[in-house]
Amino acid sequence: MSELPPIYVTSPMLPQLDDYMAELESVWESGILTHQGEKYQQLESELRGFMQAAHVPMFANGHLALQVALRAYGWPAGSEIITTPFTFASTTMAIVEAGYTPVFCDVGGESFCLDPTRIEALITEKTKAILPVHVYGLPCDVEEIEQIARRNGLAVLYDAAHAFGESLNGKSIAAYGDVVMFSFHATKVFNTVEGGCLVCSNEDIYERVCKIRQYGTQGDGAPVHYIGTNAKMTEVHAAMGICNLRSFADAVAKRKTVYESYAELEEIAGIVLPLYPAELTPNYAYYPILVEDSYPFSRDELADYLKDLGIMARKYFFPATNKFEIITELFGESATPVADELSRKVLCLPIHSNMSNQDVQRVVSALKQR
Ligand SMILES: *Cc1c(COP(=O)(O)O)cnc(C)c1O
Repeated sequence: MSELPPIYVTSPMLPQLDDYMAELESVWESGILTHQGEKYQQLESELRGFMQAAHVPMFANGHLALQVALRAYGWPAGSEIITTPFTFASTTMAIVEAGYTPVFCDVGGESFCLDPTRIEALITEKTKAILPVHVYGLPCDVEEIEQIARRNGLAVLYDAAHAFGESLNGKSIAAYGDVVMFSFHATKVFNTVEGGCLVCSNEDIYERVCKIRQYGTQGDGAPVHYIGTNAKMTEVHAAMGICNLRSFADAVAKRKTVYESYAELEEIAGIVLPLYPAELTPNYAYYPILVEDSYPFSRDELADYLKDLGIMARKYFFPATNKFEIITELFGESATPVADELSRKVLCLPIHSNMSNQDVQRVVSALKQR
């Protein structure tokens, strides 16, 4: 084991405690702790500007935001949602919890995202939506997906949990899709400790998600048309977001320097580095490398070697969600060979705004010396 302190795959962005306390003063004065109070209103308004969006309803976490959005459409139970298995458990679980059937579509080997050429073959009369993921903040083929959805009358809901603050073709990535979910979990590039939001342009869906977020009700005596849950964001979480949004650009700049230092790893035969397309302004959320079969060690061996040196790389995302026991039990087997291969080869290296130059050099030398 290494004597040096561990380097984690990520580390939460934290404001100065004094700045956070200053935000909390007015919360203490008002005594309003939740229910879309002053801090919620302020953060939502800042995010509307930041993403040039009409509505940015916020939630207790990203998972509930996605689940509430899916429920807001009110499709019949068992309706099919075409989605990627190469993602965090949350994406698939949100579909199932909302009462729908996930239909797994394979991903592209270079994009890591849903392969649009494989979507249409999976559409049936039960299909209602496509739910792609901008995995690692790498963008999906948004234009092709949009055309397929239009041709077939389907909704598009993006899981953009990894893509906060990114732009694509000069527009916020939130501009693509009917509903776009961002996670504000502590491990994400921007955090409210726990939290998340939706960006939705449709007024009807916006009204529904606001009601479902709050038990289906809105105000005393108002008619109740939806079965709701409790997914509200609190004032203390919104206050954290207000502070963290101020240093977001700085955090992304620091991540970028880590990303640039890792370019040195290019010389290692059998290791493939991530590549951002020119049309993306990235947030440098993750650093997924692929350990190819030509590399002298397996991905798992490499992960163990790094761990012994105190470098906590992570196998995001292994296994693919369609290989979860409960998912095959409920929905049967689905063949997604590209996603399987990626999940066997991928390893996410540490990248975050609290990494020092020495930390970065430790990771680089460890990999070069293997
Ligand atoms: C983090 C994450 C979520 C869930 O977000 P939470 O805010 O943690 O609930 C959903 N999808 C993906 C791909 C994620 O990484």
